[in-house]
Amino acid sequence: LLLRKFEAYGFKSFADKTELEFGPGITVIVGPNGSGKSNISDAIRWVLGEQNIRNLRGAKTEDIIFAGSTKRRPLGVAEVSLIFDNSDHALPLDYNEVIITRRVFRSGESEYMINKSLCRLKDIQDLLTEAGLGRESMTIIGQNKIDEVLNSKPEERRLLFEEAAGITKYKHRKKEALRKLDDTEQNLVRVADIMAELE
Ligand code: ATP
Repeated sequence: LLLRKFEAYGFKSFADKTELEFGPGITVIVGPNGSGKSNISDAIRWVLGEQNIRNLRGAKTEDIIFAGSTKRRPLGVAEVSLIFDNSDHALPLDYNEVIITRRVFRSGESEYMINKSLCRLKDIQDLLTEAGLGRESMTIIGQNKIDEVLNSKPEERRLLFEEAAGITKYKHRKKEALRKLDDTEQNLVRVADIMAELE
């Protein structure tokens, strides 16, 4: 799975529609302090489902929408898309290109899209977990995260390795399967009760 392209409009300092194309190999983004380099990683983390605005260096949702400048009016919406080359089908979808989009309005209303069709946040989370890009993955390592990893307890660090090794998705599935089993068992008890009443 390759990240081919990044598009942002109205997200933090991206007042104009901004597109970044990622070629093969390593991409390095350089620029003066405050020019918006970290806003790119914030934007990527946001599309990938980050729900905590503080992890995006903001206090409230509006902080991630372009707030205006001396020359420009504030915008009412922030939208970011990641375009993945899925020719290896790491994302379990029948498309060679997958576009994941997130949009938020000043009202706080959010929208999520997979290939331009509206979907739920959970659909995106499930899709990304399949590809090992889940929420706890080390896909994006922030400046403060490195300290956190070094100082974390062994159990916490293990979770990061489990995500990287692709074990987390099976843990999620196991949890879901156990929940279904539990539901089914409860249903069976109810059926037995009803049958006893009818007899
Ligand atoms: P450094 O090298 O210092 O880490 P950087 O290139 O990573 O800097 P960022 O932290 O990504 O820079 O960008 C910060 C800039 O984004 C600031 O100039 C700030 O004013 C701007 N910014 C953040 N949120 C908004 C917003 N909602 N509307 C407009 N501009 C914003």
